[in-house]
Amino acid sequence: MRAEFIEALGKAADLQELSKEELVVLIDADKEESAALFSLADQVRQQFMGDEVHIRGIIEFSNHCTKNCLYCGLRRDNRQLSRYRMTISEILESAHKAAGLGCRTIVLQSGEDSYYTADILADTVYLLKKEMDVAVTLSIGDRLREEYQKMREAGADRYLLKHETCDAELFAGLRPGTSLADRVNRLKWLGELGFQVGSGNMVGLPGQTVETLAGDILLMRETGVEMAGIGPFVPNSQTPLGECPGGTLALTLKTLAAARLALPRAHMPATTATGTIDRRGRDKALRCGANVIMPNMTPPAYRASYQIYPGKTGLSDTPEESYARAMKIVENAGRRVGTGYGHSPDYCTI
Ligand code: SAM
Ligand code: SF4
Repeated sequence: MRAEFIEALGKAADLQELSKEELVVLIDADKEESAALFSLADQVRQQFMGDEVHIRGIIEFSNHCTKNCLYCGLRRDNRQLSRYRMTISEILESAHKAAGLGCRTIVLQSGEDSYYTADILADTVYLLKKEMDVAVTLSIGDRLREEYQKMREAGADRYLLKHETCDAELFAGLRPGTSLADRVNRLKWLGELGFQVGSGNMVGLPGQTVETLAGDILLMRETGVEMAGIGPFVPNSQTPLGECPGGTLALTLKTLAAARLALPRAHMPATTATGTIDRRGRDKALRCGANVIMPNMTPPAYRASYQIYPGKTGLSDTPEESYARAMKIVENAGRRVGTGYGHSPDYCTI
């Protein structure tokens, strides 16, 4: 093992703050170093977050999107995708099913779809919280501050808005018409409004370097996010990045493990994208820092159309099968299912 790797890992084991250079050294780990990195990340996860894995049932309620992100299959210009919107009663029905199966958090995710006004979304969140004993996470992209406020006042607990990449130039190229500064500012708003805030990044984006990945982790530490979603970029042939190579499992896991060392108290999912590029990807992620899994609770009729990237794991599963698969992954990893809402450890209800 390299001397600088041993030094950086030692610092992480002593819970000292890691510099960008040290994060680069960790993410650059070779095979032998990776084993040590994963083992420490697993220990730190155990120490700060315990052995519970929180189950967040995700409902992908609309695949309409006004944005044109170069990496995403839901992008506006993808005419090959058949578009759908779930009705409020369909959303509530799916949420009831998810809660009945045991999900204590419901994640509502969509493209950027203004059909669902802030009032509609606030009503949906309100009904969800009234009818079920669940926490609610929203993941619906860029909105006005007032709109976020309405949803928060209706009872939404958390918001996921990945910064995607900390490289401002790359960000602007990949997400036309938007900027990294604006995205980060939204994360600040969400925190001010009292949401538990989640960010995250893709691994393996064209033009990204190991330094960028270290910067992604630092940005999440600086913004004080409570959730960090790290997954591979998976190329989609229906997008301009279809011919680019995707992120590898090895680099994704190393980035996740380094993030666990820098953000010991953050919730980190074993992402669906990680499970898509490797059959055992989510299991492996749980063993190097992750403590959340998000079974898909979208009705089977809509699932195939929420095609962010191809080959998404569990496309033909029913919600029951997705839930059972998540349980199996948790069990295989020798962990137990979280019994509470899985709020951030820093979250205070006063
Ligand atoms: N529209 C909202 C937004 O962009 O924040 C939420 C839905 S969007 C589909 C959810 C996440 O999908 C994004 O944050 C992005 O990281 C991820 N994503 C999109 N295209 C992807 C791809 N080709 N590979 C891996 N992840 C992708
Ligand atoms: Fe739309 Fe989100 Fe996909 Fe961008 S990543 S095209 S905002 S769904």
